[in-house]
Amino acid sequence: MYNETVMDHFEHPRNVGEMEDPTVVVEVGSSECGDRMKLYLKIEDDVIVDVSFKTLGCAAAIASSSQATEMIKGKTIEEAWNLTNMDVVEALGGLPEPKIHCSVIAEDAIRRAINFYRKDQGLEPWK
Ligand SMILES: [Zn+2]
Repeated sequence: MYNETVMDHFEHPRNVGEMEDPTVVVEVGSSECGDRMKLYLKIEDDVIVDVSFKTLGCAAAIASSSQATEMIKGKTIEEAWNLTNMDVVEALGGLPEPKIHCSVIAEDAIRRAINFYRKDQGLEPWK
């Protein structure tokens, strides 16, 4: 059902775990299949210098979370904001159609975290 890249991220997820002193932590859930993701970001001068996550859910959600964290590490918050779930799906080499919605959790978590950070800085949240 899943390709090798997806299975590799599922079996050996990158950036897994809690972070001791994150700048922001968010938790999001997907109503459709019960996946939950907790995302930790450490941000310095608008750059995501460190990222980690914990995801409870299906293989697609875990692989997408892992892939997404790799894609935003070292990036500016603006670059991270522009990362879509379809970019993540493409980087994974595709997901089965019924599982594509499971990749949205990572995009949601990243955007929510960035807006928490912006609010914390006294800035308008992005839409
Ligand atoms: Zn799922």
